[in-house]
Amino acid sequence: MFKGFTRFLQRPGERLKSLFGSQDGPAVSHGLQIIPRDQHPVSRRQFSEPALKVLYRLHNAGFEAYLVGGCIRDSLLGQTPKDFDVATDATPEQLRDLFRNSRIIGRRFRIVHVRFGREVIEVTTFRGRPGDDHGTQQSQQSEDGLLLRDNVWGNVEEDALRRDFTVNALYYNIADFSIHDWADGIRDIESRTLRLIGDPETRYREDPVRMLRAIRFAAKLDFAIAEATEAPIRELAPLLLQIPPARLFDEVLKLMLAGQALATFRLLREYGLFAMLFPEADESIAELPWAEPLIERALANTDARIQEGRPVTPAFLFAALLWPGVTQRMARLADDGMPPIPALQAASQQAVSRQLQHISIPKRFSLPMRDIWDLQQRLPKRRGKRAFQTREHPRFRAAYDFLLLREEAGELDPGLGAWWTAFQEADEHEQRRLLGKVDADPAGTPGPRKRRPRKRRRRASSPSGQDG
Ligand code: ATP
Ligand code: MG
Repeated sequence: MFKGFTRFLQRPGERLKSLFGSQDGPAVSHGLQIIPRDQHPVSRRQFSEPALKVLYRLHNAGFEAYLVGGCIRDSLLGQTPKDFDVATDATPEQLRDLFRNSRIIGRRFRIVHVRFGREVIEVTTFRGRPGDDHGTQQSQQSEDGLLLRDNVWGNVEEDALRRDFTVNALYYNIADFSIHDWADGIRDIESRTLRLIGDPETRYREDPVRMLRAIRFAAKLDFAIAEATEAPIRELAPLLLQIPPARLFDEVLKLMLAGQALATFRLLREYGLFAMLFPEADESIAELPWAEPLIERALANTDARIQEGRPVTPAFLFAALLWPGVTQRMARLADDGMPPIPALQAASQQAVSRQLQHISIPKRFSLPMRDIWDLQQRLPKRRGKRAFQTREHPRFRAAYDFLLLREEAGELDPGLGAWWTAFQEADEHEQRRLLGKVDADPAGTPGPRKRRPRKRRRRASSPSGQDG
């Protein structure tokens, strides 16, 4: 049945109901549609052992327990769920008592993490309406509608209507293996539509990150965004400036590392959201012809690597996103007479601190990112032992890839990248010959910089310089 379902989704236009095999269609009650176990393709076999353990323990203790969100959505789409979210009427404290291996996390939105080895199951207590806190301060909203705190408990129906998109509000009930659809999510799965629950503008004002989630799911699932859901985004995009940088960092990673980074980037720009996340990159794209190709190639490489199951590092992505701005700052500092090495240091520093006002970048990513940039100045300097030393740098490989990217994007004339490709593949004899070529080529020769007048444009677009 599951296979049939997958095939069905590759043939748009057919009705899901036929696959559910029901004569009379899903049951309807008060806006709730219940799709019984034998009429949907989601089976317990698709769920992880830990997810099932959490569900059963809750159920046996007399609580309601559902799987909800991405895991049900993705299962219905024939994709493998990547993590499991549980919704229940048990409070965080009751969950703590029930699961020794659990932790309450979050303040704005308290949830419980139940850990089984490396897998974490996220368990959320049903949310009610934010206004209904009877003065307990469990919910807080700013004057312009932003939810500062959302910890009012409610029932499953209220919980469903507080979720973001209809396709994320499908609940798999462990009591009878049925799916509960409170918001016509099945219809939207069928027509591959991403639709916010409720009034879109209100929902974006409550939590502007939902705009990013709309783009992420549209790109990841290849869904169309419903007209009313997409309409307010451009105008409300600046609301993202209210979101704490740490939360935006998490969201940006999800946007960039879901395997659809290029499509996501294009959508973010189309909706004016990119400028709220990476303002300087957005400005550079308008000013430097190579900036957009550079970023697009970096994102396409990331997608390809994820596709092939190879590791990716956010450091490389951030390096590409911020680099155009760094080069512009460097050019300005050089015009003021600063030599290249300190100019790169200062430009990097400035670009990073501006970016940190929007998105925090943990040191474990920002330090390698800056290494990648620093190495751009070292790669042209190859004489003597230098090529060998650079080759040994822990970030050499990333920096070399970055150099190729810059050449492909048209920031640099090609040549140096090919030299390094050959050097890495060469045996000792061949390496000596390649180094000889550097000696013979004054452009590749390190040493005192010749004080010849240079065209401004070239310096702006070639900050690492080819003159070593
Ligand atoms: P995936 O895990 O594949 O990225 P997901 O839909 O499971 O997608 P999560 O961030 O894991 O996304 O969130 C789980 C569920 O919680 C969502 O499906 C949605 O129902 C709800 N949710 C998450 N973030 C929000 C939000 N900002 N506003 C409203 N509901 C949300
Ligand atoms: Mg999830």
